[in-house]
Amino acid sequence: TVTRLQPFASTIFAEMTALAVRTGAINLGQGFPDTDGPAAMLEVARTAIADGLNQYPPGPGMPVLREAIAADRAARYGQRFDPDTEVLVTVGATEAISATLLGLVEPGQEVVLIEPYYDSYAAAVALAGGVRRTVPLVADGNGFALDLDALRAAVGPDTRMIVVNTPHNPTGTVLSDAELAAIADVAVRHDALVLSDEVYEHLLFDGRTHTPIGMLPGMAERTVTVSSAAKTFAVTGWKTGWACGPAVLVDAVRAAKQFMSFVAGGPFQPAVAHALRHEMPWVAAQRESLQRKRDLLGAALAEAGFGVRDSAGTYFVCADITAFGTTDGEAFCRALPERIGVAAVPVSVFADHKTPWNHLVRFAFCKRDDVLAEGIRRLHTLA
Ligand code: PMP
Ligand code: GLN
Repeated sequence: TVTRLQPFASTIFAEMTALAVRTGAINLGQGFPDTDGPAAMLEVARTAIADGLNQYPPGPGMPVLREAIAADRAARYGQRFDPDTEVLVTVGATEAISATLLGLVEPGQEVVLIEPYYDSYAAAVALAGGVRRTVPLVADGNGFALDLDALRAAVGPDTRMIVVNTPHNPTGTVLSDAELAAIADVAVRHDALVLSDEVYEHLLFDGRTHTPIGMLPGMAERTVTVSSAAKTFAVTGWKTGWACGPAVLVDAVRAAKQFMSFVAGGPFQPAVAHALRHEMPWVAAQRESLQRKRDLLGAALAEAGFGVRDSAGTYFVCADITAFGTTDGEAFCRALPERIGVAAVPVSVFADHKTPWNHLVRFAFCKRDDVLAEGIRRLHTLA
């Protein structure tokens, strides 16, 4: 393995899921749903295969999907993207993120990540030869807030890009309008680009609404907005995502993407296009169901002795393990499958600065009610 990839030899999700499978544990570690997305969407993919849509689709993605993505962003947020030049279909949000960094960051340029951060960001920055800087989330009441002083200290003339993720994996934090405005302010001031990872844009709870940072003044021209069908339509295995932004930025993303995967999977594209146009009622029902699951798991974790943090969105809730006589989340999670038959993910793996996060573990609640109930039963056996 090349030096720049060595720190990222294996992902925590692969490791914890393998452990869960080996021990027969309920997997509340890796965030993927265990029920299917909307039936009509699945049928469009089946029909596409039966109809012979099985060869390379166009490099930027099928027009039907690019048009649906642009129409969806316009309808929900008033964001305007030209489907021909400002929308790129990718192999999941993961490829959109890597291609954005590879296409737009020169070796040695700085990329600012909000810590804790989704694991692929640091690896992709390293692949691009970028220099990672971090800005922490800090405790705020029972949840988390962006450290604005640290943000202003981290962003400067050497910053090429700021990576923003709201709703936020792993904490479930939804950044406030004031936090987004502060990020936009430093980005504009220092002429930095923003990569906005919005894969959980539909998964906000308690009536909250999502604000794309690309909508803020001065941001459209400097923001690459990334999202994906994975979470919105419960198809994490379809690996169908997208990057939207001004043509000059999306063209750079496309230049990198074409040598990573060339194109994205064909039969999924008309299916996701169908879903974006017709399955928003299904998405709303999923959101309500997830909110209920968040409440169920949160209450059970609290009863079992965890210090449960607020989750305003995503699939995830974080919990403090201090009451169990340890603050070592990594050891706790490595032992948990054998101990009670439940898998979780330590939050410290998402951070360069481990100390503030060691005592927190992340649980995924995007599971069937019966699976969640069995997980909860097992959590109650934790002494
Ligand atoms: N960003 C975040 C914050 C995620 O949690 C994930 C994982 N689902 C991704 C990106 C990757 O998305 P995809 O599966 O579409 O590649
Ligand atoms: N996004 C999911 C998570 O955070 C899964 C990602 C993955 O397996 N790479 O758990």
